[in-house]
Amino acid sequence: MRAIEQITDLKAIIRSYKKTDKSIGFVPTMGYLHKGHTSLIKNSKHDNDITILSIFVNPAQFGPGEDFESYPKDLQNDLQIAEKAGVDVVFIPNAEDLYPNNFKTYVDMKDLPKKLCGKSRPDHFKGVLTIVTKLFNIVEPHKVYFGQKDAQQVIIINKLIKDLNMNIELIVCPTVRETDGLAMSSRNVNLNPAERKKAAILSQSLLEIESLIKNGEKDAKKLHDHIVNNINSVDIAVIDYIEIVSADNLEPIVTLYGKVLIALAVKFGKARLIDNIIIEV
Ligand code: AMP
Repeated sequence: MRAIEQITDLKAIIRSYKKTDKSIGFVPTMGYLHKGHTSLIKNSKHDNDITILSIFVNPAQFGPGEDFESYPKDLQNDLQIAEKAGVDVVFIPNAEDLYPNNFKTYVDMKDLPKKLCGKSRPDHFKGVLTIVTKLFNIVEPHKVYFGQKDAQQVIIINKLIKDLNMNIELIVCPTVRETDGLAMSSRNVNLNPAERKKAAILSQSLLEIESLIKNGEKDAKKLHDHIVNNINSVDIAVIDYIEIVSADNLEPIVTLYGKVLIALAVKFGKARLIDNIIIEV
């Protein structure tokens, strides 16, 4: 495995892959790797000749007062995990190279970034769209791998690829969970043992909603009330949002039909956790 810091060095490597017609799979991450990340790597290795992983905590997607400074990091461990998972090139760029002093261009999108997570994180997706576009331009991947755990991110990046005519295929990989159902996340490390135990309510509530829907419940308000009550029964859980929306356009749904996304963000102490399910009704 090669570890590359400089954009120009990575571009030279990419050029050599392109000359020999190698297919390139790309997995962008913020590091502190776990099994959710390695599942994306596994999928990329299955589909492509070369797998490139990036590790970069992108300052542009954190708002004031968010956890940019305290975002968990362990580069040495990440490199071991990446190597073991069979990554060919790990790209670890510097913030100064990606965002030099005279940096002026940001990528933004109408509507979608303002919904769900965007209500409490107004500039988050502008930062995501900008870094993802930059990394796609540097890596020039054929396929990119993202996790369903970040459902809104997947919908927004899919739209970015379509709207800007990028020659890239987006592959969405299922959410990898702990044994009690909690979605794996680098931020889970911020949970103390009591919070960690109680955080299982999120996936449990989503599973309950799934079975209510499978048993014929189509009233979004009833389902919403059910999940709100469920999560509020945990004393330390602070709901940021729970929404039942169309998985195509993130618009609220009154009576369930089509591809429905049930997404939530809930704080447990310092950690803001997200989770979701998509159900075809
Ligand atoms: P992050 O490092 O948290 O920015 O995540 C990098 C990529 O890994 C994103 O595409 C995430 O959606 C994906 N990811 C994070 N956690 C999981 C998980 N538990 N299961 C599947 N994919 C995940």
